[in-house]
Amino acid sequence: MPDNAADKVVLLVESYRGEMVDTMSAMVAIPAISPASGGKGEGARADFLESLLKSWGFSTMRYEYSDQTGTKRPNIVATYGTGTRTWFIVHMDTVAEGDRSLWKTDPFKAHIEDGKIFGRGTNDNGQDLVAAMYALRALKSSGISASVGLALVADEELGSEYGIQKLIEEKNIFMPGDLFVVPDFLSTNGLKIEVAEKGALWIKVTVTGKQVHASTPALGVNANRYASMLITEIDGMLHSKYSEEDMMYSPSTSTFEPTKREKNVDSINIIPGTDIFYFDCRVLPKYKLDDVLNDIKAVASSEKFKSVSIGFEIANREDPAPPTDMDSEVVKKLKATVKRLCGVEPKPIGIGGGTCAAFFRRKGYAAASWGTERESIAHQPNEYTSIDDMVADAKVFAAMCV
Ligand SMILES: [Zn+2]
Repeated sequence: MPDNAADKVVLLVESYRGEMVDTMSAMVAIPAISPASGGKGEGARADFLESLLKSWGFSTMRYEYSDQTGTKRPNIVATYGTGTRTWFIVHMDTVAEGDRSLWKTDPFKAHIEDGKIFGRGTNDNGQDLVAAMYALRALKSSGISASVGLALVADEELGSEYGIQKLIEEKNIFMPGDLFVVPDFLSTNGLKIEVAEKGALWIKVTVTGKQVHASTPALGVNANRYASMLITEIDGMLHSKYSEEDMMYSPSTSTFEPTKREKNVDSINIIPGTDIFYFDCRVLPKYKLDDVLNDIKAVASSEKFKSVSIGFEIANREDPAPPTDMDSEVVKKLKATVKRLCGVEPKPIGIGGGTCAAFFRRKGYAAASWGTERESIAHQPNEYTSIDDMVADAKVFAAMCV
């Protein structure tokens, strides 16, 4: 017989191992990709998860918000016990599968091999979504006195506008004194607890020239060529000007990456009149996002780009939130529980973000991110979760609430 409440919930979680694998496998088969990334949103996945929570006796709340495409973006909240809560905030949405030819198995059909489950979203954020759900189930079915909450949120991958931001701003769900675990930052052997995030700036740049037949370039202005030059110049400027390091963060420098590029013309023999590209900037808190933006605009206003017009739009902006105190209760509880159950002492660090934790920190709540993975595999082809890691994380989540 287990000698204390924490041991009891840990044993219960272990007894759910097979069901956790089944839940993950079922979830992988229900894609939850944002409409802005070509998907249908989280609706069907939310239905499945909500009915599972209900089957365990939880009464759930569902908060839905319509996005720009008119798609309803659901958020599901379940609680157990009363009083100051420990919350688990996990996101249901995933990025798209990317280049299918890079996947060894169907990204939307769970493939189990060597103790791993492969599929899109298994690592980010499926592993700890399942872990947090089963931690709550263990707490509830053990009858132990605890006060916990679970929020399955939408739209995390594209800025959380229809997800955690709405729940924090518009709903009276989270209370002063509540603790927040946002297990959307995983580390090898769970050696790191994320307590700080960089600022984030996603910029859309539209370069407009003049479209003509490719055989007569002198009659037009090739937007592709100017956009390519501009990408290289912005990239070089940012990396040389914003190069300082802060060893608390991983990676220790700011990051500036040209990422998405929109399709321009359909034919090889057309010189594009418009070319649109994006930069993803993750900036150490010592720098101001306004300075980064102004420096980018200054590059574009130089003489060499005078034959094109260049427009800027902010696709997403998150100024850095104040870090969670290393001595806060949520960090202390996580550290102590991880040490006891996993035998390692995790170290608090900052990351490039952005997880839902930053939205809580901006409101003055203590939020920490922790979870275990074998290797960094989020957003990549052949994404997987280790079943052992998923179960181990669930045990930590349940035990830290006892
Ligand atoms: Zn994530």
